[in-house]
Amino acid sequence: MNLGTHIFFAGVVTAIFTGNPYFTLLAGIGSFIPDLDREYLLVSPKAFCEEQFHRALFHNLLFLSGLFFVNVWLALGAFLHSFLDSFTTEKDKGVEWLFPFSRLVKRGRYTLAAKSKDGACKLELVDQNPPDRVCFINEDSPETTQLSDPDLKESRAVPWRRTYGPAANGQMFDRWLALASFSMLILYAVLNPGFAMAGKNLILSTRIIPPMSLLTGIVLVYLGGWLKKNNRNRKGYLTFFVVGGFFIISSAVLSVGGVSSYVFPLGPAFVAAACVILFVEGLFVWRVSTRGGRKAMV
Ligand SMILES: [Zn+2]
Repeated sequence: MNLGTHIFFAGVVTAIFTGNPYFTLLAGIGSFIPDLDREYLLVSPKAFCEEQFHRALFHNLLFLSGLFFVNVWLALGAFLHSFLDSFTTEKDKGVEWLFPFSRLVKRGRYTLAAKSKDGACKLELVDQNPPDRVCFINEDSPETTQLSDPDLKESRAVPWRRTYGPAANGQMFDRWLALASFSMLILYAVLNPGFAMAGKNLILSTRIIPPMSLLTGIVLVYLGGWLKKNNRNRKGYLTFFVVGGFFIISSAVLSVGGVSSYVFPLGPAFVAAACVILFVEGLFVWRVSTRGGRKAMV
C-alpha cells in the first residue's frame, strides 16, 4: 500500500476509537515505521535481495510486540500498516507475520504447476522424500513473483511464508482506501469540535516536540535509504542516517518523563509466563510431529 494510505488509515482508526489527537498523531507516525525495512538500513543490497527482508523484517508480530513496549500507539500504527499490507498480492510480497520463525522452514512440499494447453492449474509434489523434516504446504509461484520490483524478485523457489490478499499496490483499492480514510478523518474532526480543538492545542504545545522529532528522524532515514538504494555516494546517505538517528534518539530522550509515568498494558509476570508457555508448547508440538524422522507440515 502507498504511504498515504497507511497514515490516513492508522489516523482515522485511532481517532474514532480513542478521540485523542495525540494518540492519533503517534499512530500516524507508527505507520511510517514498517517500510524502513525496504531501505537497506542494515544490510547490503545483495543480501537484501537474497534474503527478501522487505515486508518481513519490520512487518512481523515479534517486531510489533517489541514496539508495543516502547509505545502502544506507535505499535498500533505499525500493526495497522502490516494489516493493510497483508491484503496485497504475491507480487507485492504480502506480509511475513511470523518472521523470523518462518525462516526456519526452508521449503514447500508442493509447487503450483500451470499447464498452458488446457489452462489447468494443479499442485505437484516437489519431492517424495524431502531432506527437511518440516515444510510449508507449497511454494510461492515463480510466475507471479517474477512480476515484483527488481529488488523484491525471488531468485529461487521459496516456501509460502507470507500472507497474501487480492489488492495490488497503488491500484484501485489502495487509492480508494487512502481517499476514504482521509475524508472520514476530516468528517470526524468536523463533527467532533472537541477533537479538533484538542488537536490545535497539541500543535501549539511543547508536547508536539518529541513526536515531531521522531517523525523528522524517520523521514531523514527514509531519505538516506533512498540515496543508498539509488547508489548515490556513501557519505551522503550515511549523513542522513546519522542525523536521522540523532532526531530519533532526541525524541526518546525528550519522552523519558512520559515513559517513567507510563503503565504497561500487560503485567510483566503475564508476559514472562506467556513467553515460557508459548516456547515450551511450540517445542512440544514440533517434537511430537517429527518424532522418529517423520515429515510434518506447518
Ligand atoms: Zn509496508
